Amino acid sequence: MKKIAVLTSGGDAPGMNACVRAVVRTANHFNIGVIGVRRGYQGMIENDLFPMTPSDVSNIIQRGGTVLKTARSKDFMSVEGREKAMQNLRNAGVEGLVVIGGDGSFKGALTLHKEFGLPVVGTPGTIDNDLFGTEATIGYDTAINTVVQAVDKIRDTANSHNRLFFVEVMGRDAGFIALRSGIACGAEAVLVPETETYTEALMDKLQRGWNREKSSAIIIVAEGDDSGGAEVLAKMVKERFPHFDTRVSILGHMQRGGSPSAYDRVLASELGAGAVKALLEGKTNVMIGRMHGQVVEVPFEKAVKHHRDINKNLLELVYWLSE
Ligand code: ATP
Repeated sequence: MKKIAVLTSGGDAPGMNACVRAVVRTANHFNIGVIGVRRGYQGMIENDLFPMTPSDVSNIIQRGGTVLKTARSKDFMSVEGREKAMQNLRNAGVEGLVVIGGDGSFKGALTLHKEFGLPVVGTPGTIDNDLFGTEATIGYDTAINTVVQAVDKIRDTANSHNRLFFVEVMGRDAGFIALRSGIACGAEAVLVPETETYTEALMDKLQRGWNREKSSAIIIVAEGDDSGGAEVLAKMVKERFPHFDTRVSILGHMQRGGSPSAYDRVLASELGAGAVKALLEGKTNVMIGRMHGQVVEVPFEKAVKHHRDINKNLLELVYWLSE
């Protein structure tokens, strides 16, 4: 293998740049050329390719977002689109591909391999932490820290006014961000998509807090929670307890941005290097993850299908520690 390509795809995540840097510099160490693909699969179809040298990735390890840009590509869902993409890779002499992205991006890579035989390896770049086979995805740690910083600030104002805040965080299908940040912020309750939300139990809890003259309360709600989200819940609570001073804060896209944490930079560096090594060893259709401190290879089929279960012990901990 003399030349590989690298792209970032799906939602951006802090640490993607550190991963791109690791891919380019590890490949250089092994005398392999790297082609950067801008805007994910869409850029691959539109031939937005360029050679990358080690100096092209200097001064990006600390930057959020992705210097390669990212996109969601409808065209890549069709075989015609993928044929075009593959032809562009062939013309550029690409013999292997590193995809930094989430489960959709890995499905795309797998399809490309099945149709054209191109060796493909992935690294988990998503703030959601919803991939099986790795203890963390690139961007997850930074996103949690961003949420914690925001909620700490909300807590200051909530306390000053004796307010109840519903804070909505990212997580359409997974409650990992909500759960970890909820514990770190001392939230009164955490609502996640993986479990049924009992609004009556929540009302009881809020009533108990009121009786104890608690000065503030923070409820963290993952956006995919079955209650319908922070706005719906806040309305419901206001109807039941008109005397509560209730507010909603939806954190939104700020959770994706910012300089990656040290943890994410190290993880991204290890996984990016692991991806290049895997391609050189003839591996394909695997995600490079980290488990128990070791870099591991996880078949794409497992990584995307076996969504990790939420940690029930941590959910219980929220309950214990907030009474
Ligand atoms: P995130 O977790 O941040 O959403 P993701 O990688 O899951 O990231 P998606 O939008 O699901 O994001 O996927 C990225 C791109 O991968 C899609 O826009 C599409 O081009 C391609 N893709 C997804 N699923 C498939 C598939 N089954 N076949 C071919 N291509 C796919």
